[in-house]
Amino acid sequence: KLYIMTCCGTGCTSSGAIKNREKLDELMERDGLQDRVQFVKTGCFGLCAEGPILMVYPENVMYTNVTPDDINEIWEAHIKNGRVVERLKSENELNFFSKQMRISLRNCGRIDPENIDEYIAYGGYEALGKVLTEMEPEDVIKTIKDSGLRGRGGGGFPAGVKWQFAAEQQVKEKYVCCNADEGDPGAFMDRSVLEGDPHAVIEAMAIAGYAIGSDQGFVYVRAEYPIAVQRLTIAIEQAREYGLLGDNVLGTGFKFDLDIRLGAGAFVCGEETALMTSIEGNRGEPRLKPPFPAVEGLFGKPTILNNVETLSNIPQIITKGPEWFSEIGTEKSHGTKVFALGGKINNTGLVEVPMGTTLREIVYEIGGGIPKGKTFKAAQTGGPSGGCISAEFLDTPIDYDSLTSLGSMMGSGGLIVMDEDTCMVDIAKFFLEFTVDESCGKCPPCRIGTKRMLEILTKITDGKGSLDDLDELEYLAMNIKKGALCGLGQTAPNPVLSTMKYFKDEYIAHVVDKK
Ligand code: SF4
Repeated sequence: KLYIMTCCGTGCTSSGAIKNREKLDELMERDGLQDRVQFVKTGCFGLCAEGPILMVYPENVMYTNVTPDDINEIWEAHIKNGRVVERLKSENELNFFSKQMRISLRNCGRIDPENIDEYIAYGGYEALGKVLTEMEPEDVIKTIKDSGLRGRGGGGFPAGVKWQFAAEQQVKEKYVCCNADEGDPGAFMDRSVLEGDPHAVIEAMAIAGYAIGSDQGFVYVRAEYPIAVQRLTIAIEQAREYGLLGDNVLGTGFKFDLDIRLGAGAFVCGEETALMTSIEGNRGEPRLKPPFPAVEGLFGKPTILNNVETLSNIPQIITKGPEWFSEIGTEKSHGTKVFALGGKINNTGLVEVPMGTTLREIVYEIGGGIPKGKTFKAAQTGGPSGGCISAEFLDTPIDYDSLTSLGSMMGSGGLIVMDEDTCMVDIAKFFLEFTVDESCGKCPPCRIGTKRMLEILTKITDGKGSLDDLDELEYLAMNIKKGALCGLGQTAPNPVLSTMKYFKDEYIAHVVDKK
């Protein structure tokens, strides 16, 4: 049987995948090949630059930039007569995928996310079954701790340690939350996992519930992700029907259910305490820590919060063991990391690489280099909380600690590439404008300080700044980092500080008294 997989993630959908599907349906209706051809709607394959993408199995042929006219040609030549249409085959497929390792994205582009049977056929819910029948909650926590899995949402805190804190609380009511409020400009990792493999997140949350003693979870997902919300809703209903959520999960007596809460698009709601405040029905403002959420979180009860990518690793860690996971990556950063590769790069898209892969490998091998043969200037990691890494660090292995030591951070995984034509002062201003807009206003260092920074930066980009303004900018940045209440404000100066560190000459070129 032939399987035609069409990517129906947000990227391919917006570039015409639905029209391609309609064309396929039309041809199937006309020719009646149902007994030997099956259509499968999948999540993102990753090579978004070449969407809409269509994959034909068992030949393993990836067709890219496919239009409804191309569908006619593929149907006649390949599907009906077995001749691959060479001119539509991807030329970048090999380079793009050969250095990648897919754990979090393992099912994206491989299964129909709206069909639980396909997830189960690839080993889905095996980990939940194993946990409920063979493991004590403390064994589960030990497994996650031993794997070395660190939070993929930004901070890199060890997930198992967080789970242990919550498990130790002698309170009956506890919560498991999933942070799907991905708000960094250019980031779409979590959206793609939810669109392509929602059951992996559901399974992981149920495992977390068992580990910490919780019977209720919430997925906090931004309303701007309609496809992700729709697929997650379907997946939760299917999991309930199959007895994988509810009062008696898999007949073991374990009780766990999930609900979705929609975020309204405030970047600050990605901060854990603001997210919980928002779920509680209040304005999403951060709270002081301590108490930490594992002790006093949602509705004042012990709560763990993990982001989508972190959770999507959990089922594989349970089934394959912590040693398998901890052997991937670097000494202190285990496993893989998903990056949304964007900006001045040929192969924009979604990539997953072992921790320790160098920036050069991502940009030049997976990403296919810079368009029009231009020179790499910098890469921004970590979105508005991160920083810019200059060309001299292209060979640095990427992990949590190396990025922090360069003045950036892993963040959730946005990776924006800049070429020789990019003005780094403009880049810093872009991210600062974003954080000024998104500041919740609760604390003065962030509310007022970032605004003052933006005023100075605007003065500089307008050609009216002075060298004193540069000193003032740096002084303000350092003090906002120290004085802001939450991560948003504490990291808001990073794009300015990192560009001032590596591209000071560009700032100086903008000011009037250059001597
Ligand atoms: Fe709000 Fe900014 Fe203060 Fe965070 S740092 S609480 S976003 S004003």
